[in-house]
Amino acid sequence: MASINVMEKLVSLAKRRGFIFQSSEIYGGLGSVWDYGPLGVELKRNLKEQWWRAMVRREDVEGLDAAILMDPRVWEASQHVQNFSDPLVDCRACKARFRADQLSEASCPRKPSKSPGEHQDCDLTEPRQFNLMFKTFLGPVEDSAAVVYLRPETAQGIYVNYLNVLQSSRQRVPFGIAQIGKAFRNEITPGNFTFRTREFEQMEMQFFVTPGSDGEWFEVWRELRMSWYHQIGLPAERLRWHQHTPDELAHYASAAFDIEYEFPFGWHEIEGIHNRGDFDLRQHQELSGKKLEYFDQAANARYLPFIIETSAGADRIALTLLADAYREEVVEGETRVVLGFHPRIAPLKAAVLPLVKKDGMPETARTLYEDLQKRFPCFYDESGAIGRRYRRMDEAGTPFCVTIDGQTAEDQQVTVRDRDSMSQERVALAEVGAYLQDRIS
Ligand code: ATP
Repeated sequence: MASINVMEKLVSLAKRRGFIFQSSEIYGGLGSVWDYGPLGVELKRNLKEQWWRAMVRREDVEGLDAAILMDPRVWEASQHVQNFSDPLVDCRACKARFRADQLSEASCPRKPSKSPGEHQDCDLTEPRQFNLMFKTFLGPVEDSAAVVYLRPETAQGIYVNYLNVLQSSRQRVPFGIAQIGKAFRNEITPGNFTFRTREFEQMEMQFFVTPGSDGEWFEVWRELRMSWYHQIGLPAERLRWHQHTPDELAHYASAAFDIEYEFPFGWHEIEGIHNRGDFDLRQHQELSGKKLEYFDQAANARYLPFIIETSAGADRIALTLLADAYREEVVEGETRVVLGFHPRIAPLKAAVLPLVKKDGMPETARTLYEDLQKRFPCFYDESGAIGRRYRRMDEAGTPFCVTIDGQTAEDQQVTVRDRDSMSQERVALAEVGAYLQDRIS
């Protein structure tokens, strides 16, 4: 399958089955902003839940939910006001906009397709720096004193709360703070479906350690983060490390590794793990004038902890899971489309299907559906041929279909069909809930 083709199919499947819709679609759609439909929202919730369990259900990590709006001085301390920009060029001929550092990968909107600057009458401006933070105003007066930003990352909410969390939770260094929340970046060249969007969710964890132990903790978190991707069902051969070279390193980082996934459009970052030293706390201490040092009783020493950061994008990982799950298979001369999600990640865990709409089958099926629905998200479907109903659930990525047939009334058993092997098994009606629960977890 050509890569572009796969992405087109994924976009169309995501809409058809209710995973992802374009924002404000009836108005023509808002550029690079997306909405999650009924199945998409379950997928993303499962993914965030898996992350939260892995990161926060630990003795040494606390959760946090900081606000999106913050004192604008936060973004001066973090240097986002000064540095969070991309070089932008405009084409005076076609009015398109490009990132100056990515011209060779971009294509001019005019035909035949060429790189910007390659058409005879292309007329590119000199690059200028474009800050990616969205601005708005706090309160009724729209003047420069009222400017606030939509946060471009969740990390700063953690740094400014580090002492609050430390003191209220009675943690000691080494410890971490994790949060999931929206971030906004006015990206110049967003794209590849939900890979790069202007509004997205981040899942970030900042781990505060004694200076000198940062190298060791960096390795601990690198290993834990890679193994988490395996746990949610992504294959090792599609994941790799990319170490930042000295000229790629952000101003705050002394070491950085990205976890990359092989998308249909190439290898790209899905998470960054950074050794940020004491840059952030030092900056906030200086600009706020508040002492942010930690007193280490055991060592009888006062210091600014160093920070190891793990920073992942929930939307980008949801796209990773969708792209990874997508497959087409020919079965009995017909192509079936399957989303082969790990059962932990699948939006619907099971579908309950009466074979026909008579002989008490719908009644038994509905009772079972209502019972299963209390345990995990399920779907009830009685319309259409059974084969078509199976195919719909394959496309939704539902790992199990439970069919109530003519024999159920006699032997109190149902058929459980496995999405991947398509094998069928008879299971006692009274035990099907526990049976599925077991297979999902
Ligand atoms: P990129 O190089 O792709 O722009 P980045 O290095 O700027 O990413 P970070 O600032 O380290 O990314 O953000 C951490 C994570 O947040 C990324 O690995 C990605 O999963 C997610 N992320 C960042 N920007 C976007 C975006 N515009 N849309 C969706 N997810 C994003």
